[in-house]
Amino acid sequence: MLLRSLSLSHGYETLRLRRNRPAKNRLSKIIKSCAPRRDLQGQSVAIIGLGKSGRAAARLALARGASVLAIDENKNLGRLEQDPLFEEYSGLRTILGNPDVQLLKDVDLVVVSPGVPPENYGLSTLLESQIMSELDFAAEILPKDIKILAVTGTNGKSTVVTFAGQMLNHFGIEAFVGGNLGNPLSEAAFLCLSPSMKPRFQVAVVEVSSYQIEIPNNYFCPSVAAVLNLTPDHLERHKTMKNYAMTKCSLLSHMTDTKLGLICFGNQHLNEAIREHAENFNLAWIGAFPGVKINNETKIASLEVPTMGVVSQLQLDAMKVMGTHNYYNAAVAALCVLGLDLGLDANGMSSTIENLRAPPHRMQIVHRDANGVIWVDDSKATNVEATYTGLLGLKQQKSVILLGGLAKVVYWEETNGFEQLIDPLKYHRCVITFGSSGKMIQKTLSDNGLSIPCIGAKNMEDAVNCARRMAKFGDAIVLSPGCASFDEFRNFEHRGLVFQEMAFYS
Ligand code: ADP
Repeated sequence: MLLRSLSLSHGYETLRLRRNRPAKNRLSKIIKSCAPRRDLQGQSVAIIGLGKSGRAAARLALARGASVLAIDENKNLGRLEQDPLFEEYSGLRTILGNPDVQLLKDVDLVVVSPGVPPENYGLSTLLESQIMSELDFAAEILPKDIKILAVTGTNGKSTVVTFAGQMLNHFGIEAFVGGNLGNPLSEAAFLCLSPSMKPRFQVAVVEVSSYQIEIPNNYFCPSVAAVLNLTPDHLERHKTMKNYAMTKCSLLSHMTDTKLGLICFGNQHLNEAIREHAENFNLAWIGAFPGVKINNETKIASLEVPTMGVVSQLQLDAMKVMGTHNYYNAAVAALCVLGLDLGLDANGMSSTIENLRAPPHRMQIVHRDANGVIWVDDSKATNVEATYTGLLGLKQQKSVILLGGLAKVVYWEETNGFEQLIDPLKYHRCVITFGSSGKMIQKTLSDNGLSIPCIGAKNMEDAVNCARRMAKFGDAIVLSPGCASFDEFRNFEHRGLVFQEMAFYS
């Protein structure tokens, strides 16, 4: 066992981990993380990828006085020069299509959007000092008194950051909630630049995807960082679970002093990865102590925050959000908020539970129709594990489950993973499979002894029509597809909205 307990803090065990890195490497990292922000006045910055994050980073770079080369391979995108948000800036040039790679070598800094893999454009050949992620670029200029709460993991990120933001607001603390969800961190950083636009938030609650932290961060140093869980996903980019876990755990690279790292208990990939990444940090667990554990019978979560010596209980029975997995999401959010050490009364956290609301497309009750059927949109369940967790939380609610789309099959696994759903599906009325992976899912379920009817439908519209016929009074119709949406829809939001529209016409 490599994890060693070396110190006690406030009477609670504080685990301190070491990584086996050459001392020189460690030192350079520490020095960098303490480095003052760079003066970009008169410097040239290339921004790669012009989605929401890239555009926000471009505006931030211009506002910091840099000239900007804005690059995206999509030739159909609009040029930033023509966007009213950029009209006050000079020194901006957009290049659409493939740029001359030499251009990137000639600029002072390259800022990379999360959607762009580091092997593109020869990015991996650039010096560490020459390249930054959008997240780090934003964090570089966030005032030090704004505390960062960062959340990553395969599933549950958006829900946990949304709950954490709602809890902070409940206590009158203004929080920026964004990152991978909603507004990029560069927008928060932009607000911090001008004294006349001083931000009103004290805390930045940031959802972090693995793509955002593939390039090592030197300025993004959260006060609290959580890795919620880790199951196979995004392997087309990360290739192996080891790489995926290492990337996720890099969020914990700067967890020193009073900072708190939170990791789900019992995940072998994460355990191995934190040994590499964690350096003398305070660790708490999701599912063990110190950390958070839930008694599902009593609906009480016990919390132990090691950095502060806080022990408290959280009453979850008032929760209105559907699905028992959301008990965990709420309890983790509460632990993270307490870990920020903002002087909040731990015993008062229970009062926040009743008012929590899940973000759209996550077990969202969208309609109750005239036939007494509840329509639930869980379109964000884009992998089997998300659907599995969602179904576990629905045991009490007999449902017609819609499964399908484009399955994320891991090529070295012997199965496609859908057999995991056999057990939680047994509580329900029937399953309807649809989309390009529909037949494969139907076969897996029947080969593995599914005990409820399974009906194949061509696409989601057919599946919904079939669900209408199958559902009985008091049932729910739940879209929790366990698949990506791209075979039929632009993204999971589009799929969810189409489902909602069909629900309203029922
Ligand atoms: P993310 O932002 O990580 O994609 P979301 O909060 O958007 O996660 O939830 C996505 C889906 O994952 C939900 O629709 C739900 O089915 C499932 N889910 C939510 N919370 C958890 C959790 N704590 N563990 C596993 N699955 C979860």
